[in-house]
Amino acid sequence: MAILHDYYRPTTLDEALTLLRRGDRVLMPLAGGTRLVGQLESHALRDIDGVVDLRDLGLHTIRQEDGRLCLGATATLAAVVEQSLGGSLASGLLRRAAQGEGPVNLRNAATVGGVVAAAEADSEFYAALLALDAQVVLHDGTRPTTIPLDEFTPRPGLITEVWLPPAAWRGGAARLARTPSDRPIVAAYAVVDAGVERVALCGVAARPILAGMPLEPPDDFKGSADYRRAMSEVVMARALDEARG
Ligand SMILES: Cc1cc2nc3c(=O)[nH]c(=O)nc-3n(C[C@H](O)[C@H](O)[C@H](O)COP(=O)(O)OP(=O)(O)OC[C@H]3O[C@@H](n4cnc5c(N)ncnc54)[C@H](O)[C@@H]3O)c2cc1C
Repeated sequence: MAILHDYYRPTTLDEALTLLRRGDRVLMPLAGGTRLVGQLESHALRDIDGVVDLRDLGLHTIRQEDGRLCLGATATLAAVVEQSLGGSLASGLLRRAAQGEGPVNLRNAATVGGVVAAAEADSEFYAALLALDAQVVLHDGTRPTTIPLDEFTPRPGLITEVWLPPAAWRGGAARLARTPSDRPIVAAYAVVDAGVERVALCGVAARPILAGMPLEPPDDFKGSADYRRAMSEVVMARALDEARG
């Protein structure tokens, strides 16, 4: 049986936002589909009438503007790290984070906007964006709003871009995982620039957080809450050591 009734592939942002605001159908944005399709197939998400495919909206560009790096919402993780600015940023922090996010076939499909909207607890790419002080550009149909990623919570509308402010960050990262290619149990991403230090953690709360926020670690087959709490100190110290050089 088909998992969806409706599939739309708009070519303008206005058209996409109008579809997502329809009162008579429940439609969700579809980016790389690496999470959403699985949720629909497994019925983890119910009562969804269809999807609005974002791929033709022209939101895949990666550019530099006023010194900041602007990542289009549908830019794939692979595109971000293959592009020289994204790949070399903060000692290659995004490249390392993307590798932790999943294998190359996933990185070729999963998008920047999808990572931010999904905010998976163990997302290293999200943690790296947090450390880099990212801002999220959200269109809700009236006007675009720019929200710091550390204040961003799921809300109606479309993420169109993620901005990384100009800074000569030096970066460092540390992770604990069952195997090198597995997703992390806990990981820390740190950046240092002109005396400012920012560290973000994943695997210690419902979504990745900045260091200093309250920890609410999961307690699961990968590690107990106490273990994650203790290890978060270790990865944080290692990531900062590397970033400080
Ligand atoms: C086998 C496999 C295992 C995985 N395991 C994990 C895991 O353990 N942890 C983890 O963090 N990730 C995991 N992922 C990756 C996960 O799929 C990521 O969250 C992924 O980056 C989502 O990006 P996407 O572009 O594919 O988003 P999609 O799957 O297309 O969408 C994800 C969600 O974001 C919304 N969305 C997408 N783009 C936008 C936008 N621009 N504006 C507003 N909302 C938007 C969608 O409506 C949907 O709710 C796994 C993926 C696969 C294939």
